[in-house]
Amino acid sequence: MTVEILCVGTELLLGNIVNTNAAYLAEKCASLGLSCYYQSVVGDNEGRLKEAISTAMGRSDVVILSGGLGPTEDDLTKETAAAVMGKKLVMDEESKDAITAYFKKRGIQATDNNWKQALVPEGALVLTNHNGTAPGIIMRKDNTHVVLLPGPPGELKPMFEENVVPYLEALEPGIIYSQTVKICGVGESKAETMLKDLIDTQTNPTIATYAKPGEVHIRVTAKADNEKEAKKLNKPVIKELKSRFGYDIYTTEEDVTLEKAVVDLMLANELSFTCAESCTGGMLSARLINVPGASECYKCGFITYSNKAKRKVLGVKKPTLQKYGAVSEQVAEEMANGAANAYKADMAIAITGIAGPDGGSKEKPVGLVYIACYMKGKVTVQKFQFMGNREKIRESAVTSALNLMRKCILEYFSKVTFGKK
Ligand code: ATP
Repeated sequence: MTVEILCVGTELLLGNIVNTNAAYLAEKCASLGLSCYYQSVVGDNEGRLKEAISTAMGRSDVVILSGGLGPTEDDLTKETAAAVMGKKLVMDEESKDAITAYFKKRGIQATDNNWKQALVPEGALVLTNHNGTAPGIIMRKDNTHVVLLPGPPGELKPMFEENVVPYLEALEPGIIYSQTVKICGVGESKAETMLKDLIDTQTNPTIATYAKPGEVHIRVTAKADNEKEAKKLNKPVIKELKSRFGYDIYTTEEDVTLEKAVVDLMLANELSFTCAESCTGGMLSARLINVPGASECYKCGFITYSNKAKRKVLGVKKPTLQKYGAVSEQVAEEMANGAANAYKADMAIAITGIAGPDGGSKEKPVGLVYIACYMKGKVTVQKFQFMGNREKIRESAVTSALNLMRKCILEYFSKVTFGKK
């Protein structure tokens, strides 16, 4: 079953409003297992709208239109769609009553053109609008279904959930079940290359990758009669992904974030944790503390932004700072040791880097970050060169720090070498 989204409105074409309805509808249709191959925007022009509707009906099973159902002259969607489908408009008494009630409740007078909204194509399914006056419409011609929804998102979304979802589900029974394999430490293009053969031959389940900041999520989606069947279909694909990405996968659970995976690992291994943040200024702490239960492992954090603070609070040596500079492997290592000593923690992370936009040099460009992880006496330091603006660099540093923590815990307790399956 294929679906096509057609958004109507000159203000969309001019860029005056952002087409959030298209994003919403596309995501919903994907989660219903409908394949969406086309999305278009057309202005409030009868000729072009006619052409767009005919084209969409010629190539898709379901055409969903948004906008242009209002009372004014330039709202043409219903009239045009009815004409393309060869249907007459008739007065729908229920819609008329609903419009009367809508205006009565608000204590305002309906204008003549409001009644235009109660005209519906004959034989159409009329969808009540609880949040506005324009009813939605579903029409059918042979095996093609045309759905008309009001433009305001506050009207479109509840109407879609309440009426259109059950209608579409009835067209193609069965369920759609997705599982997400979350990866950190492998770039999106590398992940896609590693998956190419699976993506090229996918049928049911389907495989799709989504790039998230510092992470790649692979969504495996099966269509089946029930959840048990769908899980059975997903299982061998997830097994294959595990064998390809090994320890770069931090979870296959929908609601587990990277920071939750790290906190869970610390809790499972009864680790106490502290950190020394420079350029990230507490962002790592914020992400960890956001996880309920983090207080069992997260003990204390230091934001040591100046060299003086690094020396005073963490005991970083003056000669180390003078010889190597604050953004260096040596200082990161001393920061991690210092934080661990200051709190007598099992584990400590230190982050020092140049977030920009100023402060970079040829030898130490903006985006250079050192992250050190102290783990029960042993320190591992990694050098990163991140791209992007200050915010992006700081976010990337935090994600990489979380991944380094994960890696150090896994290596210490499971005796695995990270990156190997
Ligand atoms: P109304 O009855 O309010 O006139 P309508 O169905 O005729 O509704 P439009 O006139 O096309 O819808 O749009 C009304 C408002 O809805 C727009 O000004 C805009 O704020 C919002 N809107 C319309 N289309 C979209 C869209 N694709 N994405 C996000 N918002 C939209």
